[in-house]
Amino acid sequence: MELSHQFSLQEYNSFNIKAVSPTIYFPRTVTDLEQLPKFVDNPFYILGDGSNTLFVDDHAPIIIKPDFKGISISETRDNYTVSVGAAENWHDLVCLCIEQGIYGLENLALIPGSVGAAPVQNIGAYGLELSHFCTQVKWFEFSSKAIKVLDNKDCQFSYRDSIFKQALHNKGIIIDVEFSFPKAWKANLSYAGLSDLGNNPSAKQVMDRVISLRQAKLPDPCKLPNAGSFFKNPIVNEQKLISLKNSYPKLPFYPQGKGLVKLAAGWLIEQAGLKGYREKGVGVHEHQALVLVNYASEQGEDIVTLAKYVQQQVLAKFDISISPEVRMITAKGEQNFVDLVVDLESK
Ligand SMILES: Cc1cc2nc3c(=O)[nH]c(=O)nc-3n(C[C@H](O)[C@H](O)[C@H](O)COP(=O)(O)OP(=O)(O)OC[C@H]3O[C@@H](n4cnc5c(N)ncnc54)[C@H](O)[C@@H]3O)c2cc1C
Repeated sequence: MELSHQFSLQEYNSFNIKAVSPTIYFPRTVTDLEQLPKFVDNPFYILGDGSNTLFVDDHAPIIIKPDFKGISISETRDNYTVSVGAAENWHDLVCLCIEQGIYGLENLALIPGSVGAAPVQNIGAYGLELSHFCTQVKWFEFSSKAIKVLDNKDCQFSYRDSIFKQALHNKGIIIDVEFSFPKAWKANLSYAGLSDLGNNPSAKQVMDRVISLRQAKLPDPCKLPNAGSFFKNPIVNEQKLISLKNSYPKLPFYPQGKGLVKLAAGWLIEQAGLKGYREKGVGVHEHQALVLVNYASEQGEDIVTLAKYVQQQVLAKFDISISPEVRMITAKGEQNFVDLVVDLESK
């Protein structure tokens, strides 16, 4: 199996943070996975394209970067089934499907990252989540060295969450993701910015609109390093919503059922006066307050300090705790944000 020592990860994370891994493994076959050493005492991190990852220290842990490639397509009378290797690029997959006349993923165009990472946080945008079309995930379990097949229900998908972030975290590697698309397709125009596309837009038109909306709203990580939405949108109960609405009548909210509502973290950050805020070469994006950007820092710690400040300001103003969507990685492996801040403050 291909591997490398003292490997610089600066080009492997969309925040462009300097970090070095003692060893990086690039497994591309099941035999490679079987041959991975046991990381009993050594922390490790499974890295896709690093677009939802913040390396906090100069020292990263051991990295496993799956390199499973390949896309296979089959069809029945009513459906297409598309099976995709974890290392394939997500946006390239969306484009390929549209070119082949396989529709459904257009609302998820231009989300950076690998196909293997997409089920981990159940990527979502413009009124659609991956869980809508994902039928199964092939997952290599470290302990048994066997491939398990998890169907949609087994994956326990929810908002920016799945079993791979919870019970199966660090217990194995996603090697392949399967999708099923009904041939009877209807555009999903539930998101406000898509509703003026008319009665019958093509999937390509929906994809082009999503791409232009995203390009207008979000900074391109190649030009201004970032990891997209830094915080998850908080979910609160209706009582909290009512009390907030009294003070902030314009507060946007999205009912989730069961007496819960989702709030827009970006709106809360903006109202806390932080849009465009900058310190130590990092900042809150000028046009999209949910995105933290790296103007000139090489140190992930600067982003953590900024994130903590943003979190504190939102808590002080709204009494709502927003939590990061981005994964925080130190030499000790993946860290919980609260523990990480305590560690940094005690330095
Ligand atoms: C500009 C920008 C816009 C974005 N917009 C959106 C958006 O609209 N919606 C959205 O949901 N996200 C968005 N994101 C976040 C990001 O694109 C997604 O989270 C994406 O799925 C990350 O893919 P990655 O390969 O870069 O993952 P990484 O950052 O490398 O890893 C993310 C997580 O997945 C795990 N992982 C990666 N590969 C595997 C594997 N094969 N097996 C097991 N675990 C694995 C990692 O351990 C980590 O926990 C955006 C990011 C950026 C930079």
